[in-house]
Amino acid sequence: MYRFCMKVYGCQMNVYDSERVRAALLRRGWIEAGEDEADMIVFTGCSVRGKAEQKVWSELGRYAPLWKAKKRPYVALTGCIAQNLGDSVFSRFPWVRLVSGPRHIGLLPEGLERAMTGERVTLLDEDPREFHGLDDFPSSGLPSHEPPSSGGIIEARENRYRGYVTIAHGCDNFCTYCIVPYVRGRFLSRPPQEVLHEVQALIESGAREVTLLGQNVNSYGNDFDNDYGFAELLRQVARTGAERVRFVTSLPQDFTEKIARVMVEEPNICPSLNLPIQAGSDRILRLMNRKYTRAGYMEKVRMVRSLLPEVGLTSDLIVGFPGETEEDFQESVSALSEIRFDLVHTAAYSERAGTPAAAMPGALPQETRMERLNRVNELQNHIALSINRTLVGRRFRILVDGSAPRGEGLLQGRTPTDKVVLFQGTEDLLGRFVSVEIDSAESWCLKGTLIDENRQ
Ligand code: SF4
Repeated sequence: MYRFCMKVYGCQMNVYDSERVRAALLRRGWIEAGEDEADMIVFTGCSVRGKAEQKVWSELGRYAPLWKAKKRPYVALTGCIAQNLGDSVFSRFPWVRLVSGPRHIGLLPEGLERAMTGERVTLLDEDPREFHGLDDFPSSGLPSHEPPSSGGIIEARENRYRGYVTIAHGCDNFCTYCIVPYVRGRFLSRPPQEVLHEVQALIESGAREVTLLGQNVNSYGNDFDNDYGFAELLRQVARTGAERVRFVTSLPQDFTEKIARVMVEEPNICPSLNLPIQAGSDRILRLMNRKYTRAGYMEKVRMVRSLLPEVGLTSDLIVGFPGETEEDFQESVSALSEIRFDLVHTAAYSERAGTPAAAMPGALPQETRMERLNRVNELQNHIALSINRTLVGRRFRILVDGSAPRGEGLLQGRTPTDKVVLFQGTEDLLGRFVSVEIDSAESWCLKGTLIDENRQ
């Protein structure tokens, strides 16, 4: 039988797709192996940011000496990077035997078997509404075997306690900087029964927290011919028995009071919301085609905080968009100061070929973009630290989901508001809910002490 190794770069949706492919391959009798023993390396890559794309390019190049010596391993390139680069990779990297976009994962297992015979397999969208799904769930009926520590980037331990379910594919919003609608295709909601069935399967396999995924989860159901939408789905998911429910990502103009009220009414939906602002200046928001104004955004924040006073609010911000003046940039700075997010994923604008913004006049020098990025990061670190310090002395119930990345014998978990808490504990706590008291704060995490009596 064939041996495979998964390598995943990019967002949670790529991780989710890869887990499904992994499940399908194991079920078909493939064996997961370390990179050195694999017959097929399956790359899933992101093209949303230039950095992730460059990483995959350099990884692909690493197989040249092995290929020269042994004509192995074969390599498959999947995900939105594959849709973006197309079959041009075949000539550059002869070891690549399969190229498949994210809307073809249902055809991947069979395609990989064809590729193992030496065939060059191309599975790319002609029609952006086309979709080939995969029925295999990462959780259901898998052979009980852990991936080897040397193989793959997927963190098996995390998957056991936290499950992810994609509720919709693609996006129709066409923000001018974003490549997603071109590489992930048009918006397509999955039927609610399918989502609920998958959530149930995850819970039965031990997931204690379920996160619903989509480029814009709030648009869920817009393509149905009835009134069933995200608020309805969220409520049903909350009532499946999942102990904690999260969702990501929300587009500000589509996040409604109805959804916020479901979050209030269903106690197992975490009070945590990612609401990407992207810019504080209306002029830049218009150029980005974001379809909301700064004032409209502020109104959403007020609505959410009035209903969920303790909500953990995170955001995404791009600096250095083409034509962004110092005044525009200052509006982003003032938005961060005014709103005081718990966390902001900041990025310097990077051109994605084929998007409208890449052809806009007024591209800023890289140094200006990086200088602005450093300024917002410094400000945001300061804000996050001052928010986190107010939590010292408080107690939280956290799901212990792994070891602290920097070791020191610490475990980590997340509060309902999605703050990382590090604490001293033993591995038998992994996958359990425990209570911790916060002792100290940093800008990106909290440190606490375990309060034994509340472990479950
Ligand atoms: S909403 Fe905008 S930024 Fe988000 S995936 Fe769609 S096009 Fe991209």
